[in-house]
Amino acid sequence: MLHVDTLIIGGAVMGSSIAYWLSENQDYDGTIVVVEPDPTYAHSSTALSEASIRHQFSQPVNIKLSMFATEFFSNFHDNVQVNEDAPDLPFRETGYLFLASQDGMENLISNHEIQKECGAEVALLNPKEILERFPYMNVSDLEGGSLGIRNEGTLDAFSLMQGFKLRARHNGVQYMNNRVVSLTVNKNKTLVESAKLDSGENVSCSRVINCAGPRARWIAEMVGLPLPVEPRIRAAFVFDCREKLEGQTLPLTIDPSGVHVRTDPPYYLAGAPPTEDLEVHPDDFKVRQEEWSENIWPVLANRIPAFEKIKVTSSWAGHYAYNTLDQNAIIGPCEHLPNFFFCNGFSGHGFQQSPGVGRGISELITYGEYRSLNLSELGYERILRNEPFLEKAVI
Ligand SMILES: Cc1cc2nc3c(=O)[nH]c(=O)nc-3n(C[C@H](O)[C@H](O)[C@H](O)COP(=O)(O)OP(=O)(O)OC[C@H]3O[C@@H](n4cnc5c(N)ncnc54)[C@H](O)[C@@H]3O)c2cc1C
Repeated sequence: MLHVDTLIIGGAVMGSSIAYWLSENQDYDGTIVVVEPDPTYAHSSTALSEASIRHQFSQPVNIKLSMFATEFFSNFHDNVQVNEDAPDLPFRETGYLFLASQDGMENLISNHEIQKECGAEVALLNPKEILERFPYMNVSDLEGGSLGIRNEGTLDAFSLMQGFKLRARHNGVQYMNNRVVSLTVNKNKTLVESAKLDSGENVSCSRVINCAGPRARWIAEMVGLPLPVEPRIRAAFVFDCREKLEGQTLPLTIDPSGVHVRTDPPYYLAGAPPTEDLEVHPDDFKVRQEEWSENIWPVLANRIPAFEKIKVTSSWAGHYAYNTLDQNAIIGPCEHLPNFFFCNGFSGHGFQQSPGVGRGISELITYGEYRSLNLSELGYERILRNEPFLEKAVI
């Protein structure tokens, strides 16, 4: 039977980030295998992501993860190059703009204070200041907004994943085109011993990392552990607006209703949590068109009157790996099963967390502790204790 030291289940942005960081670490000397059933990644959250980064969170650990991503992205070519070649990762720095009516102001202000303490470049704007920058917005029902001045915007999730993957393979990581169908634990249920693949092959392993995105719960069930993560549909609608918006470029704007919109040159892109936000089948990628006409477009037309006359040019739907406890990541091993690692539940912010999470898990594996950024608040034990670690700024 093939033996591997680290078996990573799922090779999209999280699995490939961990493979990258472990294989870059001179102190780690084991073998690394990534099992991924779909080398096209067509239905992965990564490929269907809106691929944006913000520093505006409510939890310092999330802010710091994104700050590290900014640093990593700005040296992306050097970080992942193989023989001087690397995927392009262009950054459109538009900022995020969180809008608030009276109800949301307290949250906006307390989040802003936390962000400033962490060193984020953000500004609180009153309605007049919003209008000065974005004269095309209707601010009549707003009390304020929080704008990211630097380091927030949009990149390309597929390029990021490819960069991690190409460099990891160059470093000796093996990607297997296969699917994990079951895991075996020892008699005392204290260690994972092996994985069975769809091909029938068994692989013995010293540790396993669950990077199966929206399907992560079923991997956890294979070792008898609960995981409050489910696939939830999120659609993106790309639309054309003939009228030019005069003023500062539209940032990734989050309306108090929860609808968000950003530029997607030469078009715009909008989305929102569906009205009935429930678990969907992992193979259900149907775009609910009525969400556009009933839920999203009326909000857009109210916020930006020029969006009264727009035309949808394309749309797609992907899945959030939605953590129903607190919409935050679940990272690290379980006390009862210390060689099984979670890397799950990223909800809507896993793209930007992938560099910091990959680095953190590689440190946990190599040194038994976090060395650069402590991610223990995102640990699995809170799930067993049913203690949410709430992120208030979710999209
Ligand atoms: C519409 C949308 C917009 C988003 N926008 C943003 C954004 O702007 N910013 C942001 O930071 N994040 C965003 N996200 C979230 C982000 O895309 C995800 O958090 C991130 O891509 C998760 O990566 P992952 O590797 O954990 O999961 P995935 O990309 O889903 O990868 C999981 C992989 O596991 C594999 N797998 C599944 N089962 C098995 C098995 N049994 N054996 C082996 N492999 C298996 C799958 O084939 C898949 O390739 C968005 C997500 C969506 C859907």
